[in-house]
Amino acid sequence: MYSKIIILTFPPEVAQKALVCQLVKKFDLLFNILSAKISNQKQGLMVMEISAASRPGFNKGINFLKQQGVTVSTPEHQIFKDDQICTHCGACTAVCPTQALHIRRPAMEVVFDKKKCSVCELCIVTCPSRAMGLFTKEPETVA
Ligand code: SF4
Ligand code: SF4
Repeated sequence: MYSKIIILTFPPEVAQKALVCQLVKKFDLLFNILSAKISNQKQGLMVMEISAASRPGFNKGINFLKQQGVTVSTPEHQIFKDDQICTHCGACTAVCPTQALHIRRPAMEVVFDKKKCSVCELCIVTCPSRAMGLFTKEPETVA
């Protein structure tokens, strides 16, 4: 299974179309919407995790979106967790919308799965120990 978190920007003329549903019907992809909003200019912005059985299958779906005028990019930043500082208080797990930060039982350790992170930054402002941080990563081509 190949899976990636991507950012989709829909121009106003396609923002109302059900293009994301076509990913399931035409390309057999799975998606999980992490956040979605429409700007005052009627432009749609969606952060989602897309999963496919293979990388070529993923690329076909992404190319379809691009052909419809959708801009596809990856988050410019990446979150890190400093395990030397983390006290495993669990506060960040309560705000993390994607369960990228979660408690591993029975050890009750807070672990970070960066593949699930949507870079919403909520954990950074929530962490009392300042164990969560942000760094800029290299630009990445999608499909
Ligand atoms: S809020 Fe900070 S200190 Fe607490 S578990 Fe999360 S990363 Fe660790
Ligand atoms: S930035 Fe933090 S709170 Fe947001 S999804 Fe990533 S780990 Fe969770």
